[in-house]
Amino acid sequence: AHDAPATIGLTGLATMGRNLARNIARHGHAIAVHNRTTERMTAMLEEFGEEGDFTGCESLEELVQAVERPRAIIIMVKAGEATDAVIDELVPLLDEGDIVVDGGNAHFTDTLRRQQTLEEHGLHFVGMGVSGGEEGALNGPSIMVGGSDHAYEQLGPVVESIAAVVDGTPCCAHVGPDGAGHFVKMVHNGIEYADMQLIAESYDLLRSVAGLEPHAIGDVFAQWNEGDLESFLIELTADVLRFDDASGQPFVDVVRDEAEQKGTGRWTVQSALDLGVPITGIAEATFARSLSGHTDQREAARKVFSTSPDEQRVEVDRDTFVDQVRAALYASKVVAYAQGFDQIAKGAEEHGWDIDLGELATIWRGGCIIRAQFLDRIREAYADEPDLTTLLTTPYFADAVKEGVDAWREVVATAAAGGVPVPAFGSSLSYFDGLRRERLPAALIQALRDNFGAHTYRRVDRDGTFHTQWAAEG
Ligand code: NAP
Repeated sequence: AHDAPATIGLTGLATMGRNLARNIARHGHAIAVHNRTTERMTAMLEEFGEEGDFTGCESLEELVQAVERPRAIIIMVKAGEATDAVIDELVPLLDEGDIVVDGGNAHFTDTLRRQQTLEEHGLHFVGMGVSGGEEGALNGPSIMVGGSDHAYEQLGPVVESIAAVVDGTPCCAHVGPDGAGHFVKMVHNGIEYADMQLIAESYDLLRSVAGLEPHAIGDVFAQWNEGDLESFLIELTADVLRFDDASGQPFVDVVRDEAEQKGTGRWTVQSALDLGVPITGIAEATFARSLSGHTDQREAARKVFSTSPDEQRVEVDRDTFVDQVRAALYASKVVAYAQGFDQIAKGAEEHGWDIDLGELATIWRGGCIIRAQFLDRIREAYADEPDLTTLLTTPYFADAVKEGVDAWREVVATAAAGGVPVPAFGSSLSYFDGLRRERLPAALIQALRDNFGAHTYRRVDRDGTFHTQWAAEG
């Protein structure tokens, strides 16, 4: 135990909480730590206690006592019921004006609900999205804070000090009130799904169509990482594809081809459906993971519609094709990000949050999984035009898409000819074509709706809502 009170408290010392606590302590903040199972806390202090000014607490009462008032207490436990259980136990122990921070991956609607409840108790509730996995938590995550200005005044200096730093700017922002931080973190994860799916499709095409081996594809990714695709995930892909398993095989070949998910991609898509925002890239990425897990259906389909590797080999000039895939990847990535930012703008409007989209691009440049050079371009686009209609049409991205569009079409057509699934590439191209098309067949859909259900339609030649007396039924 300790005499001087701690600046901040943290409960939940599994991978994320432990690393976040160490990060906070290493930055000179006195921190009180607690975990439901005490052994986890004592083990942590035994191993890392020398790194900073820790106070180990065996109960939430002790934790609350150890922190200076008004208190700030971070919860880093399993998202969902566990978070509610900890909050319920914590609330009666706290005093008016104290701040409860949920740093887990909460659904933003849970954060809205918890904020309401805590406000009724005279407490501040902060929903804090933390990105970057365990490595980020320890060495500098990207942090998206949702909460009151008052709460951020106290919490801000501590969390900004532990965030990743890019060009002297901490990757941490007060995104907005209540659920804004967790909402943004959710869409960030959705974008990560799209990013990874696009990379996976690129790999598949280079392997199945161009006939390149994993190591060679790793080299291609390493080369791409020198250009405008430069990002953590592209670099990681190069490393993973050049890595061999102990059995001597390429590592990627010994991994079962069933992608799992923890749910943030699904949440993003569900929210987009509610908001009416077409985030096709993220949706296809999420469904592609689901499809990969349907092993029974895949086996049944393979038996009936078997493919041979030869069938997938389309005559292409290898170097040209590699370049085309790069262009398709870049263009599809622009679409996926444009869609994700759209969703955030719409969510902000719906919930009355004043979210600075350029600031998000800025704080995602470091610490998180989607960190990329690309985000600097997005930051610049919003700096030039804060009320952008879509990222797609800003000069820099419009030029990139125009330049790459022929290659993009070629790649999607080649994939179709070879029977290689490219849901994210294909849907992104369709989204782009849908937006730029003079007239959409939506006109026919409206006509059909008016015919069978008298749903009415609007006309091109005059204002108003119309219903046509279609031929009387017989
Ligand atoms: P976790 O496996 O999600 O959760 C384990 C922690 O929760 C342990 O400290 C556990 O305590 C505690 N816990 C579970 N049920 C509890 C209950 N009913 N009451 C009190 N404590 C309870 O841990 P994690 O992977 O470190 O993640 C923590 C949070 O960060 C999660 O919300 C997660 O979604 C989020 N997050 C994780 C990552 C990541 O890369 N892992 C990245 C970003 C955000 P005991 O030791 O007593 O079991």
